[in-house]
Amino acid sequence: MRNSRIGVLALQGAFIEHEQMLTSLGAVCTEIRQPSDLIGIGGIVLPGGESTVQGQLLHKSGLFAPLKEKIAGGLPTLATCAGLILLAEEIGNSPATHLGTLPVIVKRNAYGRQLASFVTEASVTGIGNCPMIFIRAPYIEHAAENVEILAKVGGNIVAVRYENQIGLSFHPELSESPKIHEWFLTKCQNTAFSTRQHSLNGSRDQLHLAL
Ligand code: GLN
Repeated sequence: MRNSRIGVLALQGAFIEHEQMLTSLGAVCTEIRQPSDLIGIGGIVLPGGESTVQGQLLHKSGLFAPLKEKIAGGLPTLATCAGLILLAEEIGNSPATHLGTLPVIVKRNAYGRQLASFVTEASVTGIGNCPMIFIRAPYIEHAAENVEILAKVGGNIVAVRYENQIGLSFHPELSESPKIHEWFLTKCQNTAFSTRQHSLNGSRDQLHLAL
């Protein structure tokens, strides 16, 4: 895991907790705030927070187009909560769409006021039982046929994978369990795309890091 350099979108929200979890697993993190930060990363995390604000900041920072291109091009992506909303092709209860690379319809703040935040445990395909912390969370109302459903809670879809994109309604970075991040790092290591990016951008990276 030590060779993975993972980008963590750091415009707003719970990005530090993702960094702490990834760092504890031996990954090196780069905070992504501007397009040049994307160079040479082998994966990216889109954290929870407030999706409307994050969507606006993606445009202001100039990250929107290059980030969308990287994700659509195969960059391993772990999106949690607001991050999942950013990826969704459609938001069922809002006219907004952000990156739109994940063919699902999400419902924002899907658990209403009373259940706005709760903790549970459920099985995730390929990983096993995971603690799940939901904070004003979305769930997935509909997933396209080629989207793999990884977990459901109370009959609602809360974890999916589509090609290189993993979308979660909950916050694994706020739990004690590193299982999801470990699994994501394995995906980053195994993706030919990340190797190709590393070798293509290696020298530019060094320059960038030296600045
Ligand atoms: N409710 C938030 C939104 O719609 C997401 C909450 C979260 O990321 N914990 O953006």
